[in-house]
Formats: sequence, structure tokens, C-alpha cells
Amino acid sequence: MGATMVPFFRPDIGDDELEEVGQTLRSGWLTTGPRVRAFETAFQAAVGAEHALAVNSCTAALHLALEALGTKPGDAVLVPTLTFAATAEVVRYLGATPILVDCDPRTLHIDLVDATRKLEQLRSSRPPGNLPHGLRPVGIIPVHVGGTMVDVDILNGFAARHQLWTVDDAAHAFPAAWRRSAAEPWRQCGEDTATISCFSFYANKTITTAEGGMAVTSNAALAARMRTMALHGLSKDAWDRYSGSGTWDYEIVAPGFKYNLTDVAAAIGIHQLRRSGQMRARRQQIAEAYLEQLSDVEEIELPDVDADRLHAWHLFPIRLSLDALAIDRNEFIRELHREGIACSVHWRPLHLHRYYRDTFAWCGADLPVATAVWERLISLPLFSTMTDEERDAVVTTVRALCQRHRRTLAVHSAPYAMDNAPAVAGNASVA
Ligand SMILES: *Cc1c(COP(=O)(O)O)cnc(C)c1O
Repeated sequence: MGATMVPFFRPDIGDDELEEVGQTLRSGWLTTGPRVRAFETAFQAAVGAEHALAVNSCTAALHLALEALGTKPGDAVLVPTLTFAATAEVVRYLGATPILVDCDPRTLHIDLVDATRKLEQLRSSRPPGNLPHGLRPVGIIPVHVGGTMVDVDILNGFAARHQLWTVDDAAHAFPAAWRRSAAEPWRQCGEDTATISCFSFYANKTITTAEGGMAVTSNAALAARMRTMALHGLSKDAWDRYSGSGTWDYEIVAPGFKYNLTDVAAAIGIHQLRRSGQMRARRQQIAEAYLEQLSDVEEIELPDVDADRLHAWHLFPIRLSLDALAIDRNEFIRELHREGIACSVHWRPLHLHRYYRDTFAWCGADLPVATAVWERLISLPLFSTMTDEERDAVVTTVRALCQRHRRTLAVHSAPYAMDNAPAVAGNASVA
């Protein structure tokens, strides 16, 4: 193993963030207040949304979004199986049923052909898994996987045809944009791309507040409902009550949640937001280097880049060509770790987790593309504070591992023990 360890992620925290957090702590106002308001206003302007609500996670934003939309038991919500836990669990919070949908083999986005099939199955005499009859489809939660947006026109057309609301899981998609064609203007993720769009500022996302999230929408009534429910269902928040102009009184109008963001967190977010373009540019530079320097490696497939997307480059997922390699994905990741490169997998599909298997009887055959592709997925490190040396170490190591574990004709026909022979020679040359 080399002397340097390339982490999967390292946060990009500057002096401005440190200074602003210090000022906030000294200011006497720690929780939701002026800095949260400033962060909301700036974020809303950045994505071109009409209303923005800062909360303490993207999961909270998704929960509030579905609650405001009236999601209830008996409702069904289309959710990609290739996503993080949060996208589907919020549907369960409200007693509704997530309908898992397969992914497109090229983009890894939710596959609308399969979504149509799942809707047909729901209406048929044989719903998928052990789902009950009579569930009402109400919405769809697309995930902009890795930071490249789904086709907004096609998604919204699908939603309109089936009378579904759309809630963007935009946890990876800031800043990201989409356009219909090169002749059209860019539309930012959150610029009315969905009924409600939900962003994440978790520690390893494209911008961070350590923990945090934002819900944006152009619908004033939904925005108002989310704001009320984010803080105990109170008619006024603490800043309204305790700042100079406020009064002490409030009314509980609904049994809400406790999802408000703190001013300490917003202090970080304000400066992350200001630097978000710069940080994205650095990630893009690294992604372009990966794309160029790994393009001739036959044992892997690189992500497709679409000209009509501004890619947030949160993730850089490669796919192993398992036919061309003598080791599997897990062994490949173990070898990367041994060589000092930390990687991750996004994600084990939801239907391959115990809860979804046991509760809804989803199986691999219901979602064949995700079932096959996830065995091949590896996310390489990609973050704005990555050095050129770290980037080069990733490229060199991936190339070396592919070469060392290339499946040759000789290996095919040789007894199993022979498989390791090239690996030993390769180790010596790379170490
Ligand atoms: C990180 C992530 C979330 C959850 O974000 P939190 O801010 O941690 O709640 C939701 N969906 C996806 C796709 C994510 O990657």
C-alpha cells in the first residue's frame, strides 16, 4: 500500500465559514434566525425558486414535502430502487407505500417504462410483490443520481399523464441544470423542475452545513404548510416571536415536526453557497480528467456525459465489466483500499435490503436492471479539495488493478489456483 490515503471525501471548509460560525456563536442567536433567513433567500435566488425552506436534513425536506402534498395510507409513490434509504422511508413515515421502480441502464435514473409497467401491475389483478389491491398512485420521486438531472420534460410529461405530483430528491443536484436543447436556456434543478425539490447539505454533499437540507417550490400554499410543519406546527417561529418586532404568543395549528435548521449551520451554508460554482468547477475538472485518463481501460465503463446537463458531479460512478475481470466488485474495492484509495457504492438497491424484501416481497426479477448493475458499481473519490496527486493516484491505481486482474484466455482455461498468478506479478510492479 502507498503512503498516501486518498479519502472518499474531504469537506471544503474555508476561513469564511469558520469566521461566520464564530460570529454566530458570539451573536447570542444560535438557532433558526437571521442567518437561516439569509441562507434561504440566497439559495432561492441561486436556483430560481419562489419559496425556500431550510431544514436540518434532506430527509426532513422530503418528509415535509410529502406531508404537505397530503400523502396518506393507501397512497402509492413511485420511487427508484437505486437510491438511498431516505427516498423511500419518507413514504413509509406517512403510512403510504413506495412502489420500487427499476433504473435506466445508461443513466441509472428512474426508468419510466418500468414505472408505467408498475402502474399497470398495480391496477391489474396481480400487483407486484405482495402489494395489496387498490393502492392509489399519487406521486413520483425522481433522484438526480450522482448530480446529473433526469430529463425534466419527459418526467413531468409522465407525471401529468398519470396525474402524479413530483418531488425531486435533489440531494446530489446542487448546482445542476437541465435544458431541452442547446438552443434553450438552462433550467436549474429547483427552478420549478418539480412540485417540490429537496436538497441535502449533509457532510459529504456538494455543499454542506454538516447536516442540513432545503425544500424549494413555486407553490405558496405548499411552502406555507412545510414551514409550519417544520417547527411543531406553530403559527409563528421563534425568530418571529422573540426578535424585536415579534410577540410572545402563537397557536399550534397541527402536530408538526422539529426540523428547523440552526443559524450555526446556516453560517456554514451561506459561504458554501457563495463558493458552490467554484467547487463544482473543480469537481468537473477532476471528472474530466477521470473521463480522459480512464477512457481506454476496457475493464470499466465510465459515466455518460450529456451535453444538455450541467452536472453537479457529486459522484463519479464507474461500472466494472465483470466478464473482463478475474475479480468481482467487492474484491476490486478491497484492492483499491489496500492501495490507499477509498471508494463507495451507490447503492445496494432498496429491494435487496431486508426491510423491503420482507415487507413487500420485492425480488430481483421485479427490478432486473438495478439488480445486475449494482454488482458492477464503484464510486471513485470526487471532491473539490482533492489534489492533483490524489486524482492521479486514483487513475494510476484503477488502471493498475484492471491490468493486474484482466481476465485472459489462459486464466479462463486454467485451474482456479492459477488465477492469482498474474496478481502477484502485478502487485510487485505497483507497490
Ligand atoms: C444524502 C441523500 C439523502 C439524504 O440527505 P440527508 O440530508 O442526509 O437527509 C437523500 N437522498 C439521496 C439520494 C442522498 O444521497
